[in-house]
Amino acid sequence: MSIIIIGAGYVGLSFGTVLASHFDVTLVDIDKNKVVHINKGHTPIHEDRLELLLKNAIEAGRLKSVTPDELTGKTDIFVICVDTPDSDDGYPDLSRIESALDLIEKKINDMCDDKVLIVVRSTVPPGTSRSILDRLRKRFPNRNIGVIFQPEFLRQGWAIRDLLEPDRVIIGASDPEAAEQWISIIKELFVKKDTPILRMSMESAELSKYVANCFLATKVSFANEIATIAERIPGVDVDDVINGVVHDHRIHPSHMRPGLGFGGSCLPKDLNGLVSFAHRIGAPVELLESVKKINKNVTERLLRLMPRPVTEYVDKKVAVLGVAFKAGTDDTRSSPSLELIRHLEKAAGIVVSVHDPVVDLERLRVKERYKYRICKNVIDCVSNAELLFIMTDWPEYYEMGLESIVKPMKVRAVIDGRRMFVKSERSSDIYYRAVGMYVHE
Ligand code: NAD
Repeated sequence: MSIIIIGAGYVGLSFGTVLASHFDVTLVDIDKNKVVHINKGHTPIHEDRLELLLKNAIEAGRLKSVTPDELTGKTDIFVICVDTPDSDDGYPDLSRIESALDLIEKKINDMCDDKVLIVVRSTVPPGTSRSILDRLRKRFPNRNIGVIFQPEFLRQGWAIRDLLEPDRVIIGASDPEAAEQWISIIKELFVKKDTPILRMSMESAELSKYVANCFLATKVSFANEIATIAERIPGVDVDDVINGVVHDHRIHPSHMRPGLGFGGSCLPKDLNGLVSFAHRIGAPVELLESVKKINKNVTERLLRLMPRPVTEYVDKKVAVLGVAFKAGTDDTRSSPSLELIRHLEKAAGIVVSVHDPVVDLERLRVKERYKYRICKNVIDCVSNAELLFIMTDWPEYYEMGLESIVKPMKVRAVIDGRRMFVKSERSSDIYYRAVGMYVHE
C-alpha cells in the first residue's frame, strides 16, 4: 500500500519525503519536469535537508513520482497538496482541488478496497472538506469514505524541521475512525512523542489555518506601523522599542520585525482569502483590511528613502541584492523585491542588476518578462552601482558586512529594506537609509 500525495510542490514534496521515511509514498504531479526531477533525487525547490532525505527515500525504494496518467497501484489514502492561489477577488481558486478530486474519483475503483481516506493539506475555505466528503459519499455510496483536514503550518526554509517537530497538529475529521487512522500514521513522524494533537471539526480546522496566517500578517503590519511612527521621532530606535515589547512573554518576538512586510505564497494569499471569505458571509473585517493596506505600501516607502528621485537613475546602475521573499527559500511569490524591480523597470525604465544566491533568476526573467541583468556574485552586482537596495536577509550579505558591499560602488547609497546593517558602524560617506530609521535632515 502506498500513500498517494497529489501535488508535489513545497508542501507535497516536503511532506511526502518525510512520510517516506516510514511509508511507501507516490507523489503525483501534473508537471512532467518536476516528476522527472524528483525521480532523479533532485528537489525542484530550495529547502534545507530535503534533497538528502529525498535521495535516501528514492534509493530505499519508498518514494516515487508519477504524472496523473501514470498513477496505478493499491492505496486507501489520498493526500491533497495542490496549490490554492487567490483569484481576482482574493477568494481561493479551488480548481486544482477539483482536478485532484476528479483524479481520485477516476482511480478509486481500481486502486482502493472498501475504505478510502482523503486528507486535505491544501489551505481551503471553511466548508470545502465537508463538500469533498459529500461529493465522494454521493458518488461512492457503498464505500467507507472519511475526510481529514489537517492544516499545514510549515515555514519555507524550515519545512523538514517543522514537519518533524510541529508546535501542534490540528486534525479536523469527518468521523473518529478516520481521525484515528490518520493520527496513527502521522504520529510516526514526530520527534516529540508528546506533540499536541488537537481534534476539532473540519470547518474549525480550516478556519484555524487562515486565522494563524492572518495573525502573523497582523503582527508584521503592526511592527511596520510602529516603524512609520518611530522614523519620525528623534532619538527613537525602533529595534529597541520592539525588543522591549517582545520581552513581555505575552508577545512572541516572531513576525515583529519592521521591514518589507510579508510576502511569499501563504500570508498574502491567506489574508486575501479570509477577507474575501468574510465578505461573502457578511462578516466585517476592518482590522484585516488595514493589515492588507499597510502591507501594500512597501515599494512606495522604499522609493521615499532614495537620495534622488527615481527618474534620475535611468542611465545609472541600480543594484538589488536578494529576490527570494525571505532567506532560506527560492520562493519569489509575492516577493517585495520583484515588486520593486517591476516598478523600477516600468515606471523609470531602469535595467536593474540583480543577485540572489538560490533563486533561478534566468528562468524567472524569461517567465515573468523582467529585463534585469543577472549577477553571479555580490561584487559583480554592486560594482559601479550608484544605488543599492538590500531586499532579502541572506546571511551571506550580512557576513560580508556593509563596508565590503559598498566598496566597489560608484556612489555609496544603500536602501536597506531588511534593516540588516542598521546597527553597523558606517563611514560618513555612505548614504544609508532603512525602513523605520530616524533621519536627521
Ligand atoms: P506549490 O505551487 O508549490 O505546489 C503545488 C503543486 O501541485 C505543483 O507542483 C502543481 O504542479 C501541482 N498540481 C496542481 N494541480 C494538480 C493536479 N490536479 N494534480 C496533480 N498535481 C497538481 O504549492 P505549495 O506551496 O506546496 O502549497 C500547496 C498548498 O499548501 C496551498 O494550498 C498552500 O496554501 C498550502 N500551504 C503552503 C505552505 C507553504 O509554505 N508553501 C505552507 C502551508 C500550507
